[in-house]
Amino acid sequence: MPDTGRICGDCALCCTVLRVDELTKPARVACNELRREGAGCSIYATRPSICRSYKCAWLLGSFGDDDRPDSLGAVLDLQFRGDRLWLEIHEESPGAFERSERLREIAEEYRASAHVRISDGDRAAEPDRPFRILRAGGIEQRVCGTRVEVFQDGMRIDSTEIGWLRRTAARILRAWKLRRSPKKARR
Ligand code: SF4
Ligand code: SF4
Repeated sequence: MPDTGRICGDCALCCTVLRVDELTKPARVACNELRREGAGCSIYATRPSICRSYKCAWLLGSFGDDDRPDSLGAVLDLQFRGDRLWLEIHEESPGAFERSERLREIAEEYRASAHVRISDGDRAAEPDRPFRILRAGGIEQRVCGTRVEVFQDGMRIDSTEIGWLRRTAARILRAWKLRRSPKKARR
């Protein structure tokens, strides 16, 4: 890991927002091992390997020094899928993205060159939970169940139902990712 000079400090947001399969900790539920008042992990020396290895995009040096996840209200990951860069925004709570001017600024900055996926802070354990994808050109896709709505600059320009076959395949894929991806699951 490059030396970014950044440390988690009092932030422990990923210990709540993301999942830890080894501990059967679901997303958006504070880990049982998390001490109060920023005192860190009670099993730090023996914490699961995924807890040791996970680093959010901020810790890896992205965004500004003041954009630590606990101040943004979301944990952010940057990853390539194929040749496409994705910025994943995992909200701390439902509506966090809309409430944070800085999160919206970051999303606008990245959508020109990456797909920005905002995971709904609610219904975190459901493979069918709603999500949004922001793309270049003011395009936004909102996916909820079988329905996909497409907006451009805030105006709805398309709305489709995903066919059952494609929907089933997508659902199986997401459920598989939910099972497979460990803590601090990048999905
Ligand atoms: S969200 Fe990032 S900065 Fe906060 S504890 Fe996790 S890895 Fe550290
Ligand atoms: S076990 Fe992992 S998720 Fe839980 S408090 Fe420790 S580092 Fe955080």
